[in-house]
Amino acid sequence: MKLAVVLPCYNEEEILEESAGKLRSVMQKLILSGKIDADSRICFVDDGSSDGTWDIIETLHRRYPEICGIKLSRNFGHQNALLAGLFSVDADAVITIDADLQDDISVIDTMIDKYREGFKVVYGVKKSRRADSRFKRVTAEAFYRFMIFMGVKIIYNHADFRLISKEVLEHLKDFNEVNLFLRGIIPLIGFPATTVEYDLKEREKGRSKFTLRKIIGFALNGITSFSVFPLRLITYIGFLIFVATLFMTGWAFWVKYCTDDAVPGWASTVLPIYFIGGIEVLALGIIGEYIGKIYMETKSRPRFIIEKKVE
Ligand code: UDP
Ligand code: MG
Repeated sequence: MKLAVVLPCYNEEEILEESAGKLRSVMQKLILSGKIDADSRICFVDDGSSDGTWDIIETLHRRYPEICGIKLSRNFGHQNALLAGLFSVDADAVITIDADLQDDISVIDTMIDKYREGFKVVYGVKKSRRADSRFKRVTAEAFYRFMIFMGVKIIYNHADFRLISKEVLEHLKDFNEVNLFLRGIIPLIGFPATTVEYDLKEREKGRSKFTLRKIIGFALNGITSFSVFPLRLITYIGFLIFVATLFMTGWAFWVKYCTDDAVPGWASTVLPIYFIGGIEVLALGIIGEYIGKIYMETKSRPRFIIEKKVE
């Protein structure tokens, strides 16, 4: 089998050569053991870096024929850089991994074994996040839990370190969404899939290229691209306010007829505010439901994917 490894790089000049070296030695071993073909490739995608990243990629390409590079015209973000790489390589299976190699490249071997067993997708799953800061660990895990709670099919603690086969890659091309969240899309494609676990390592050089702003944008994109739950929440809130108004009406009657505490004008002023408020939010929620449908339709995702045929 021919393997391609895709690495998105954004201002990674400090670490690129080291990463290329480590990856090459893993590839060499796999080639020597006959697990992958000798024409397997390592493909760096320069996501509009402003430092010397592209020069290094060019030098590496000249030095080692198995290394290739793609330069994007500007910074398109991690997900789009991955996609550019995935759609440019030609291989039986593609592994995507971050250029800082915080994910353990020694499990690539296991990924290949799983591929040979017939799995079309192999997800790298972080067994521990000791290398992450507490803040990142807590927020990231909360994000995965929240996504799963909303019914989005994602793999807990799996980032974009995964192997996908050529077939899966072909079907990925049918997902034409602009707001890309690969972690949600790959499970939607289906096919036999499995996971391999590894410990996340610390970043050896350079700083994280994910600023807080980028992370928040990414999380919001993930949620809103895969779920209309936030819209549905409006319906629930509207309904709750409406039900609360009914109870308040009952209470107002009780105060008026069973006690001497009734304040003249209170019920006729306050109750309509809550009542109309509740109906209004409920109506917004219902409109939201329809907008949610339109939104999902405009994605025109494939409605089915055929794995095999016997004819
Ligand atoms: N990256 C990218 N474009 C961006 C931001 C990041 O291609 O706009 C790449 C970056 O070079 C790295 C990977 O995405 O290879 C993950 O980034 P990083 O390691 O900085 O994130 P962290 O591991 O801290 O989440
Ligand atoms: Mg990293």
